This record gives sequence, structure tokens and C-alpha cells, in this order.
Amino acid sequence: MSSVTQDIPRIDQNLAEQLDAIEDAYELIDELLKLFGDRVAIGTSGQLTGCVLIDLAARRGQPFRVFVIDTLRLHPETYEFWDRLEEHYGFKLERFKPDDEKLDRMLNQHGEFLFFDSKFKQEHCCNVRKVEPNQRAMQTLDVWITGLRRDQSAERGETPRVTIGQEGVRDILKVCPLVDWDEERVRDYISEHDVPYNPLFDVSLHGAHYKSLGCVICTTPVMPHESPRAGRWRWFNAVEEGKKECGLHI
Ligand code: SF4
Repeated sequence: MSSVTQDIPRIDQNLAEQLDAIEDAYELIDELLKLFGDRVAIGTSGQLTGCVLIDLAARRGQPFRVFVIDTLRLHPETYEFWDRLEEHYGFKLERFKPDDEKLDRMLNQHGEFLFFDSKFKQEHCCNVRKVEPNQRAMQTLDVWITGLRRDQSAERGETPRVTIGQEGVRDILKVCPLVDWDEERVRDYISEHDVPYNPLFDVSLHGAHYKSLGCVICTTPVMPHESPRAGRWRWFNAVEEGKKECGLHI
């Protein structure tokens, strides 16, 4: 993390519109880091888009922050990949984990596998393991760079490049530099620039592949005709079509 202190610009609609006009992902990340320094962080759960964002930021040759949410239920490959990322880029990932007390209370009340019971309990689990740690991450920044893309699902089809969000009484910027990229462009970038990525993306199970990674059990590979998020909480597919968000991006 950079230790340089600097004047942080005021976050308002005018600034959001100026940033929104920067269509080139590298230029946008560069501008954000110049304006906000260590008040900017890339938040990633290790998706391919997160790998691209990290690589773009690393091209500047200066320190930058990356945070991850460790739900404590991720694939072993994901933890190994995080270690590899740190080694490759020479940074330390900021790892935000569930609050011990809240986690214990949830597990004592509902058990480890509460997410099978109902949509409500799945959201409760996501809240304790992801949303609350993410909120703690938000308290440390003014700009959250995230890898959302419009092609990932119907619900994400209108995702803006830059949004002003609220963190308590403060305004923060949520920025999606790759919002108009598609899967092919992301994969091309990764292969052209030899970017490290989670090996689970190479796994093929009877023609199904991981398109989006999250917790074990709750994430499964998808068939070519399915949407990238169809593999999340598959047991809700018949009754909860379309509701495939964990709460981080709502
Ligand atoms: S994805 Fe599953 S295990 Fe992970 S936080 Fe959400 S419900 Fe819990």
C-alpha cells in the first residue's frame, strides 16, 4: 500500500461523469489511482476480470491495493491462487474475513449448510460471510474497483461504469472498468499478457466449466448454453430464476 498522503477529490456527480467518460480500462484505473492514491482498492473474488484489473493496475509500476473477501468456504485452489498472485505481483492481498462472533452464532443456530434450506438462509450466510466483511473493506476506501461486466447476467445488463454509492454517511465511487468487455476479450487479455488465474477455470466436467467462482458447494460449473451465474446455488434455479446475487453488488 502506498504511504503517500494526498488531497482526495470531492466525490460528486460531476466527477462521476468525467470518470464515466473514460472508456479505456487502463486509463480509467490510472486516473483513479492518480486522484485517490491508496484510497482506491481493487476488490476481487478471483474471477478472471479481477485478474485483468490487477494486471492493468500493475502496469503502472507503482503500489496499489487489492482486497479479497475470504468467506472461509472457498476452494483450496482459490487460496493457492491468492498466494500465487502475491508472489507474482509482489503485493499483499488484504484479506477480509467473517466476524468470528457472528459466524459462530449463525453456525450454532442454523448449521454449516443453512444455504440449502431457503433463499433467506442463503442470503443470511452470504451476509455474514461476504457482505459484512465487504462493508469493513469499504470503510478503508473511497473508490472500489470491481470486475462486474454487463454480459455476466441479465441483472447486470445495465451496470454503469461509475456509480456513486453510500458507505455510512460518506459517498464512495464504485467503478467497473471492464463493464463493456466480454468473456472472450477477458480471456484474450489473460492469454496475451500471461496473467495468472485460478486453475479451476481450466477444469472441464462433462463439458461444463467454471465461469464464476465463489464458495464450494454454492458454485458449480456451467454448460455452454447456461449463463455464467447459473452455476451459483443451483438448487434454487427452478424457483428463483434471476436472483443470483449474493448481496455484494445490490
Ligand atoms: S456462497 Fe454459499 S457458503 Fe458462500 S457465503 Fe453465500 S451461501 Fe454461504
